[in-house]
Amino acid sequence: MYPIHQVREGQVFIISAPSGSGKTTLGKELINSLPDLQLSISCTTRKPRPGEQEGVDYFFLTEEEFEKKRMKGELIEWAEVFGHYYGTSRSRLTQYLQQGKDVLLLIDVQGALQIMEKLPRVVSIFVLPPSWDALKQRLEERGTDTAEEIQRRLEAAVREIDYWSHYDYIVINETLTEAVEKLRSIIIAERSRQEKMKEVMQGLIDDFRPRK
Ligand code: 5GP
Repeated sequence: MYPIHQVREGQVFIISAPSGSGKTTLGKELINSLPDLQLSISCTTRKPRPGEQEGVDYFFLTEEEFEKKRMKGELIEWAEVFGHYYGTSRSRLTQYLQQGKDVLLLIDVQGALQIMEKLPRVVSIFVLPPSWDALKQRLEERGTDTAEEIQRRLEAAVREIDYWSHYDYIVINETLTEAVEKLRSIIIAERSRQEKMKEVMQGLIDDFRPRK
């Protein structure tokens, strides 16, 4: 096996999706089924939901702690979403990439645009539900949000969908299995791009040279 992850820098994959599109479930499926894909754990000022764990789902911070990090430039991107702050740690992301790990960011449109501007080679994917009705139904069935909160998330989805053309790939989440397959295919194909195979090819070319 060639030592691909010893020689190349990791790749950033961003997935954005309106709330209720199944992004978290899709992200978990990808992490479990693809080797060397690291989930970026965000910081947030939102309170943990039942079952959520510190350092697993998020790093839960107070507004003061978040603001301090933001002011010190420790967040490579940040945004206010549904009245709470969310952000990605610059040092953790850089560390993963330097270790050659591919990193998956599940972040909103505002954060995605900041990362696209700052990093040269990100691969961005926009996941959407098959229809507005399907999104509404999923939010209602999830049972985690009040009617007011659901309305707020639906309104946000209407704004977010306008940003679809900023993304490299669009995946419609009709069924979980199909959406995971599409996302896996994108990641696997991106890992074989010619420019990412340079070091591997150098080794292979050396191996192919006539032996003395
Ligand atoms: P939730 O509170 O439901 O976990 O997430 C709410 C929204 O915040 C989702 O759209 C999610 O993608 C987004 N989000 C989570 N982490 C980050 C982050 O680090 N940065 C940005 N910009 N958005 C995030």
